Amino acid sequence: MEQMDVIVLGAGAAGMFAAIEAGRRGRRVLVIDHAKSAGEKIRISGGGRCNFTNLGIAADRFISKNPRFALSALKRFSQWDFIARMDGAGIAWHEKTLGQLFCDGSAKQVVDMLLGDMARAGVALWLGCGVTAVRRGAAGFEVETARGLVRAASVVVATGGKSIPKMGASGFGYQVAESFGLGVVELRPGLVPLTFAAQELDWMVPLAGVAVQGRVSAGRTGFDEAVLFTHRGLSGPAVLQASSYWREGDEIRLDLAPGLDVAAVLGQAKRAQGRAALRTVLARILPEKLARHIEADLAITAPMAEISRADLERVTLMLREWRLRPVGSEGYRTAEVTLGGVDTDGLDGRTMMARGVPGLFFIGEVVDVTGWLGGYNFQWAWSSGWAAGQVA
Ligand code: FAD
Repeated sequence: MEQMDVIVLGAGAAGMFAAIEAGRRGRRVLVIDHAKSAGEKIRISGGGRCNFTNLGIAADRFISKNPRFALSALKRFSQWDFIARMDGAGIAWHEKTLGQLFCDGSAKQVVDMLLGDMARAGVALWLGCGVTAVRRGAAGFEVETARGLVRAASVVVATGGKSIPKMGASGFGYQVAESFGLGVVELRPGLVPLTFAAQELDWMVPLAGVAVQGRVSAGRTGFDEAVLFTHRGLSGPAVLQASSYWREGDEIRLDLAPGLDVAAVLGQAKRAQGRAALRTVLARILPEKLARHIEADLAITAPMAEISRADLERVTLMLREWRLRPVGSEGYRTAEVTLGGVDTDGLDGRTMMARGVPGLFFIGEVVDVTGWLGGYNFQWAWSSGWAAGQVA
């Protein structure tokens, strides 16, 4: 039977990073993953260029039952520390928008950097090897794997969330947490397109492909980014972001012209272009198809000069605060992340170690810390992995 110091479950962003750090401390580390290759989500992330961190890391950009939990790890190994690793490996990067940093070349460079660092730190890697159980052993833990039983003083659970099952997501880490008496905060798909009932799809489907720069709000949180109409509902960065704050049964609010004084624009058009159709005026602000839809939906056929004040107010309201009620989301099949996870009440925020179970660590997406879209989730994986790697 193999005896290690540290067994890391999951060769994703968090697991590889923790393994490198523990290996550099001279620990005998084994990383086990049932996937055929390591870092699969890194490889496909950011459209193949990996949005590996964000310049604007801050506590309010992470969703958790305890939003302050992530702060310690994020400060101790920050976005600047990860950028230094990228620079050290000679991987060129650029800021795309909103502080989001991407590789100039390919996301594979990040995977190669991590695999190279693991090899140099003497970390062993078993791929294509499922893990079925973790239990306490004589001196630490016993891990049941497809290659037999392995023992270690420490186990780091980095098996990720439930999103994209076809890429190896299993939910296994939650079972491990529960078997050791830790709580799991309710799991939900996050950063996911929202779907609508047939009656909405009747008018949405013809708009499929239309994109608009808007603001989407769920509850008190709103995001100014692109909104995309699809054959099943709404997508685009603003919708994905809002989806993490949306709850079944709630409405979302769409502002199609953030910051624009729509009432003033319409009033001016009524005076200066009295014979113009509403859709013509709206098409200066919005994609034409959407302008036509709004005109039809509000059943306004008169030219601008003849549109009543009340009707113009209805137009303004629809542009600035269009209320829509999704019926659901695309679910884990396409969700970029899983909200909820191992309850942070049971973890030490400095080390990621389970409070009542010395030697057992939880890092990355399996923990109840979920970042916004834009590199926040990888930074959480690096920071939490780094923290565990210092002590495991
Ligand atoms: P994962 O990367 O999911 O790794 C978990 C590993 O555990 C997997 O390799 C899995 O095979 C393995 N595993 C699971 N169960 C078992 C088991 N029972 N036995 C053995 N192994 C097991 N975030 C960003 O910050 N920027 C982006 O650009 C970005 N783009 C994304 C694009 C897509 C399409 C998706 C789906 C996500 C994206 N994310 C992005 C989110 C980001 O990929 C995740 O938050 C991050 O990968 C989580 O890292 P992790 O190491 O915790 O888990």
